[in-house]
Amino acid sequence: MRKRLAILVCKLGHFVGKLIGKGSSMPGKFALKLCPDILRRVDLPEHIIAVTGSNGKTSTVEMIAAVLRADGKRVVYNEEGSNQIEGVTTLVLTNATLGGRVRADVLLIESDERYAARTFQFFHPTEFVITNLYRDQLTRNGHPEWVYRSILPAIHPETELLLNADDPLSSCFAQGHEAVKWFGLDRCSISSDGPGGVYHDGAYCPVCRAPMEYDYVHYNHIGAFRCTKCGHRKPATDYTVTEVDLEQARVTIDGEVNVSLAFRSIYNIYNILAAYAACRECGVSRETAASVLSNYLLKNGRMQTFRLGAHHGTLLTSKHENSIAYDTNLRYIASLEQDCAVLVIVDAVSRKYFTSETSWLWDIDFDRLAAPHVKRVVLAGRYCNDLAERFSYTELENWSVEPDIAKAAAELKANGDEELFVVTCFSDRDKILSRVEKEG
Ligand SMILES: [Zn+2]
Repeated sequence: MRKRLAILVCKLGHFVGKLIGKGSSMPGKFALKLCPDILRRVDLPEHIIAVTGSNGKTSTVEMIAAVLRADGKRVVYNEEGSNQIEGVTTLVLTNATLGGRVRADVLLIESDERYAARTFQFFHPTEFVITNLYRDQLTRNGHPEWVYRSILPAIHPETELLLNADDPLSSCFAQGHEAVKWFGLDRCSISSDGPGGVYHDGAYCPVCRAPMEYDYVHYNHIGAFRCTKCGHRKPATDYTVTEVDLEQARVTIDGEVNVSLAFRSIYNIYNILAAYAACRECGVSRETAASVLSNYLLKNGRMQTFRLGAHHGTLLTSKHENSIAYDTNLRYIASLEQDCAVLVIVDAVSRKYFTSETSWLWDIDFDRLAAPHVKRVVLAGRYCNDLAERFSYTELENWSVEPDIAKAAAELKANGDEELFVVTCFSDRDKILSRVEKEG
């Protein structure tokens, strides 16, 4: 009886919430008050795929959904991104019959890494994709090792883990766990011999703390790691990017299928591979998976193009408080070798909470912009002076400061016609997008 009532209340709450434009976690919150173990009492689909990690969750989930739907499967997932237990409850109950049967073949959940254990106390994923774990939102999450320990209790012995073989930290989830499938990149055109960036989180083994060595690295400390003492190392992979051709914007998976890249970034490659692996584990053929992922344009708007005066512009969403997300986009700008201007905006550090903590700026490798084709860099937003202090320790000289984002945009609009890259976070991107002419 309580189950029915909770489902009904959740459905009603969701309906009303939609009418008044309110968030998607409130109905689930009410349902959980009425029936705290409601998630244990419902009939869930055969496949429950969860995705968590520091970077790539939203994109990976979106691509998994696209592939599974193209394969004819009914997929329910949290498109609105409410990825704590209340949001997941709303998602499950609004897609359930009053009797509690979820009408789907696959339940797909983007899970907040810190709260995964709470979400999965009543049911567990059949497949659990963990994309990576590294420095991310220190003020909220603490250190990556802390996040690692938060996720551990969320892992059920029967869950099949899909892990990134190139990440020394998240690969530790395989310890003592039987069902593990690995995805990773072979040495390829984008690889380098050693770790890059301004700090080195892969210097010591996360298992025994002995020094680690690398056979090759794809970005920062992500690559073929090898502990010099305990045997922790990149494992053999089950799903592998065997070739990367950035010029042709194409990757080859398992030496068998090609996937064209809508966006030539290393993140996109990892997200595609993780999505490919998850879909293959759900029985999708390699051809279907590869063809849907080919040229897949993400709807989540992480990259948007626009015009500003005579400039063609690209917004590269980089998460504040996440230096690797920044590094990836800076590496992308550096790799294009096309005359450009770069606008870096740090105005609100987070959209979810207030913090003026900017130590993460010192983790970002801004020296990547010290390339002849980067003609100028403009630093804008409330924290432009923190950015300026950071830039004063780089080799760059062609940077200027404009606290006011509107003025920075107007100045760029009035001058020059080079390509423009805007590097900023979700919290700040509309402050620039509202001042440009969007494309497509
Ligand atoms: Zn070790």
